Amino acid sequence: MSTSIWASVDYDRPGKQTGDLWLPYSVHRSAYGNLTIPLAVVNGAPGPTLLLTGGTHGDEYEGPVAFRRLLRWIDPAALRGRLIILPALNAPAVRAGLRTSPEDGGNLNRAYPGEPFAGPTAAIAHYVSTVLLPMADFYHDAHAGGSSLAYLPFVSLRRSGDDALDAAALAAARAYGAPNIQIWGYSPDPRLSTAEANRQKVVSLGGEFGGRGTVSREGVALVERGVRRLMAQWNMIEARPEDALPGESPARTVEVSGRDCYVYAMRSGIFEPAVDLGDSVVGGDLCGAVWGLEDIADPPHDQRFSRDGIVMCLRHPGLVQKGDCLAHLAIEVPS
Ligand SMILES: [Zn+2]
Repeated sequence: MSTSIWASVDYDRPGKQTGDLWLPYSVHRSAYGNLTIPLAVVNGAPGPTLLLTGGTHGDEYEGPVAFRRLLRWIDPAALRGRLIILPALNAPAVRAGLRTSPEDGGNLNRAYPGEPFAGPTAAIAHYVSTVLLPMADFYHDAHAGGSSLAYLPFVSLRRSGDDALDAAALAAARAYGAPNIQIWGYSPDPRLSTAEANRQKVVSLGGEFGGRGTVSREGVALVERGVRRLMAQWNMIEARPEDALPGESPARTVEVSGRDCYVYAMRSGIFEPAVDLGDSVVGGDLCGAVWGLEDIADPPHDQRFSRDGIVMCLRHPGLVQKGDCLAHLAIEVPS
């Protein structure tokens, strides 16, 4: 299928190359201009291809920082296979520090499989779907909570309905060495990057490694070590002693199993949480209260969890509108 995007690197050339994807973008300021998307390709000895993307949302930073560190660290002479790294995939959103693209309002993780000529966000998704994922044996799209959410860090996989593919993703998640593995078992939306990877039978991992629109040091370290551990697991690099897990550190596996894991604001106002990330709750427990902005006599509106679980995610800004996600749970499942 056609695409207007072209790469300034050769995906097959040996060694380490850095450059950009060029996305032709004709606007008032620049009639024959381009949006550029930073890209690196590292080719070593024959082996598998690992595709790493960050900046799918432009205000999520731990993955992009870790991937840039990994690029500087990796030695093509010590690599079996190929690394393709795009740390600022929705580049206009990254430059603006926004979840969505300021060019077309597009949310890249609601754009797959994409379209080649329906605006920049759809074009980027289409390039990933038709050029990058077909080259990949393994895919990791790193996320965080962004400006509106805070996350307990975890690596994640999305149920595909293909037992062999899901087992391979779970094995990869275990190899990653994160303290939490989250399974997205409830995912009706087919427009996500990892949903597209599942359709193409590419073993894929997501993950939420922080949030609040800032850079979590713990999250950066987790991604950097996680990707090195994955590459060692797949025999792309030698395992490093310093990437071993401290002591016995079995991951906790949790699953988001349905909409009842989520708490949504039923009023607009100021959200006062009653829990912290990582807390275990039971159905009926208080999630928090929404206080009004106007009438001082108004009582707070209690918001409660509708089931048992572990608090994986909390809204970060105080101000909420009815319909906003305040928190979500995940349920511990056998590891
Ligand atoms: Zn994200």
